[in-house]
Amino acid sequence: MSTLFLRTLREDPAEAEVPSHRLLVRAGYIRRAAPGGYTWLPLGKLVLDRVAAIVHEEMRAIGGQEVHFPALLPREAYEKSGRWTAYGDDIFRLKDRRGAEYLLAPTHEEMFTLLVQDLFGSYRDFPVILYQIQTKFRDEARPRAGLLRGREFLMKDAYSFDLSDEGLRESYAKHRVAYQRIFERLGLDFTIVSAQSGAMGGSGSEEFLAAAEVGEDTFVGCTACAYAANTEAVTTPAVPASAVDHPPLEVHDTPETPTIASLVDLANARGLAGRTDWTAADTLKNVVVQLTRPGAAEPELLVIGVPGDREVDLRRVEAQVHPAAVTMFDDFAARPDLVRGYIGPQILAKLGIRYLADPRVAPGSAWLTGANEPGKHATNVVHGRDFTPDGTIEAVEVRPGDPCPNCADGTLEIRRGMEIGHIFQLGRRFTDAFGLDALGQDGKPVRITMGSYGVGVSRAVAAIAEQHCDERGLVWPASVAPFDVQVIPAGKGEQLAIATELASALVAAGLRVLLDDRPGKVSTGVRFADADLIGAPHSIVVGRGAADGVVELRVRATDERSDIAISDVVTRLT
Ligand code: ATP
Ligand code: MG
Ligand code: MG
Ligand code: MG
Repeated sequence: MSTLFLRTLREDPAEAEVPSHRLLVRAGYIRRAAPGGYTWLPLGKLVLDRVAAIVHEEMRAIGGQEVHFPALLPREAYEKSGRWTAYGDDIFRLKDRRGAEYLLAPTHEEMFTLLVQDLFGSYRDFPVILYQIQTKFRDEARPRAGLLRGREFLMKDAYSFDLSDEGLRESYAKHRVAYQRIFERLGLDFTIVSAQSGAMGGSGSEEFLAAAEVGEDTFVGCTACAYAANTEAVTTPAVPASAVDHPPLEVHDTPETPTIASLVDLANARGLAGRTDWTAADTLKNVVVQLTRPGAAEPELLVIGVPGDREVDLRRVEAQVHPAAVTMFDDFAARPDLVRGYIGPQILAKLGIRYLADPRVAPGSAWLTGANEPGKHATNVVHGRDFTPDGTIEAVEVRPGDPCPNCADGTLEIRRGMEIGHIFQLGRRFTDAFGLDALGQDGKPVRITMGSYGVGVSRAVAAIAEQHCDERGLVWPASVAPFDVQVIPAGKGEQLAIATELASALVAAGLRVLLDDRPGKVSTGVRFADADLIGAPHSIVVGRGAADGVVELRVRATDERSDIAISDVVTRLT
């Protein structure tokens, strides 16, 4: 500790709102460098690397192969997938000296798809799982809580490539198991909730939520069994079969860009959701507009979620013509109170809905060019293939206190969590966009199907800290602690020499050891306080008894203290 690049703080940093952030800064693990950007100090880097090592081990265990992409990427691939536009303000864009456009990647589906297309082309090459641990950039509207929501953060992103839907389901199942192992090994209390992915393809999307008061996600859990679901989740069995062969809607050019005002007029004219008082100045969360496809008798429904009360250029709004929305709205129409509560940006996100302003639309997304007057049709592009083939989407309405749908004994309660992982059966959204095929056994091309799987590596560090702390500091699980043991001399005599010798023996036995060899003027109280703040699982206090061969072993999590013989220390801790 006399040479460690560390300054612990006695006071809480002013900007820190949540315990993990406060403690990680106070204990000298991280330091704010930019809005939503943090420097990893030596202690923090040790923890981060241990978390990453666990992620690597579990990814390798399911056959994942590590690659590493640049974060700085040219526009083209994202243009082609439609996400250059779909991401809107969420991505950082920049230009090089020649004026060519780049982005700092928020996630890498495009690049992985292109890489596989570049190198693999036969059915024999598949399946394959590739992954990286990489810095991601997102211009989050509200970076907060230190590492929990950064604008630059570390993510493990993995991608599976399979020949068949069955193969995709297997790859997904493997990741699900790997994620359970990862989060168990990280000592996290977590729940897997269904996060219906709707138009993003297929039935499979689940989020791993770490229980935390400060989390931004709410979910319901059963008081008696393991049932859990996202509060906005729509349960699968998905979309009507008719959606599958859904032909693309025609594209028409309309000169005007519809505005919120024009949609408000339309919503008012139709008295939607029992409300006739939509105004542009209102905090307009949802506008529901009915549209008819050219030539079609049946109207379809366009649901637009508008975040906030601004006059929004619809090119930046998420929207989608989605048959599921029709079903949803039929339910909701009878319950106007639910309309405001449940159809909105969040549910749209759950449905994988993205609104694109770009006519080169990605499959699974919709492009709105018109529809600013009742009776006029909108012009959209929808790719039917992304919808799952059976059943209907059903909205789950949850209240605490409701009986559990899964068991006879429990009731539902609302809980809070933070998303630490997300697994996703993407299907052919990206492989369609790029035309990724393999030559099949019969000589015919097979369109590859994809999954994507993310772990918030830096967020996990904060999640662990959030779940493992007390008023005195951090309480790391042994699997990720920066040190296994802190050795603290308590006294000004020979204690330092004994502590140093003991520390060397522990290092020789393969343990991670932090020796408090700071000069004698540092009080024992300060040493203890720093040890508690830093939070290694064990401390050895070398005090007066050391002369008689006895030291104190402290267990950080339980506060247990016991005297043990110096000669037993190594065996007790290994
Ligand atoms: P959130 O709902 O918290 O915004 P997300 O759904 O946008 O997360 P994904 O695109 O699913 O995130 O990315 C995979 C993982 O990356 C998430 O599960 C989360 O753990 C992590 N992550 C996402 N955004 C951030 C961020 N701004 N800071 C830190 N970690 C993040
Ligand atoms: Mg996000
Ligand atoms: Mg999310
Ligand atoms: Mg997610």
